[in-house]
Amino acid sequence: MFQVVKGTRDILPERIEVWQRAERMAHEVFHLYGFREIRTPILESTDLFRQGLGSDTDVVKKEMYTFLDRKGRSLTLRPENTAPVVRAYLEDGRHRRAGLDRMYYVGPMFRYEQPQKGRYRQFHQIGVEVFGGKEPEVDAETMEMVLYFLDRLGIGGCQLELNTVGDETCRPGYRKVLMDALVSHQGELCRDCRERYRGNPLRILDCKQETCRTILRDGPFLQDHLCAGCREHFHAVQRILEDLEVPFRIQPRIVRGLDYYTRTTFEVTNSTLGAQDSLLGGGRYDGLVERFGGPAVPGFGFAIGLDRLVLVLSGGGDEAPVPTGIFLIATGGEVSRWFMKTARKLRRRGLRVVNEFGEKSLKAQMRRADRSGCSHVLIRPEETPGRVRVRRLQDGEQSEFDQEAWEEIVREVNIGKGE
Ligand code: AMP
Repeated sequence: MFQVVKGTRDILPERIEVWQRAERMAHEVFHLYGFREIRTPILESTDLFRQGLGSDTDVVKKEMYTFLDRKGRSLTLRPENTAPVVRAYLEDGRHRRAGLDRMYYVGPMFRYEQPQKGRYRQFHQIGVEVFGGKEPEVDAETMEMVLYFLDRLGIGGCQLELNTVGDETCRPGYRKVLMDALVSHQGELCRDCRERYRGNPLRILDCKQETCRTILRDGPFLQDHLCAGCREHFHAVQRILEDLEVPFRIQPRIVRGLDYYTRTTFEVTNSTLGAQDSLLGGGRYDGLVERFGGPAVPGFGFAIGLDRLVLVLSGGGDEAPVPTGIFLIATGGEVSRWFMKTARKLRRRGLRVVNEFGEKSLKAQMRRADRSGCSHVLIRPEETPGRVRVRRLQDGEQSEFDQEAWEEIVREVNIGKGE
């Protein structure tokens, strides 16, 4: 028998409800803030990510699913979706329109990482991108939105962690300060960080190894080396968040893994997640559109790890779906005709109807009803022709109806659903 590929998972029908709830909430809340959905392909050219994310990043160096297609073109299963959305934005000429362009996406991403709880090779993100706004209000409003989204889902224990990574004016100077501070500690750094020291020293700040963390416990941190523009932006973002009564904490270690961030970076962590406690992350990427050959359009975005969100929502266990709809049960003559007609009539009145086919005993049909996810059964007893019974599975309570009293049957099932 075949098995699912390592690091990927089936999301089975019994578990889908919580995923759908999260996705529905994203559609609803993001819509309220003026966002519209974009769907881009899962396959992109490899250069898009090399150029977009930076060839020194872990994702590009070690984690991409890259292959040659039949014509020898190098393609990659998207490891993230900001670069593809920027490509689509430019390809569609959207940068020529005035004003903010707010988009969001939902879908699978692929990274060759070591699988563990909350970390998969195919995982799912809900993300947003805002193009065309350099103002700190864009940062603050977008962060406020994601916290509202989490709030609407009833998720507690979330912490907004805020930082700035400066821009091309102040980052090179800070990079030097950081390298100077680390030069005598190079031998104590972990193997990855020794490599990062030359290529991407800022990433040493978010290394999880205890030794590397200790070395940089007291800085130097970028927030003390910002240029005037970045300092002003950072302060304005904080002030607006305070105005909006959004709690946050400055966390100088949040530099994010990808090269394209400028100024604001942030994460939301959740205390119930354990080691992989980052629920979502993002920030500002003012240089990215230019890096792709477009004009200097500022951008801001984030991506929520949907797999982790589902873990938090279901508390690690499965959430039993709420039973709904009706299962058809009949014996005697013309069973199949009755099934087909009744199901059609009731479904056209908005009722979920589950039926199974073939002759089966009453007992066998009842057993299937229990597993159908329905709240009620509709029984056509042989002994009372023309009459049917609606029985609530939870407590066995039942009422009798004329077999064609469609509206009454639907109403009976919907009682208790608040309809
Ligand atoms: P990133 O795209 O790396 O900024 O990550 C954004 C969010 O996606 C993280 O906060 C995680 O919740 C989620 N995420 C990233 N990588 C994985 C993975 N391999 N498995 C599951 N979730 C992930």
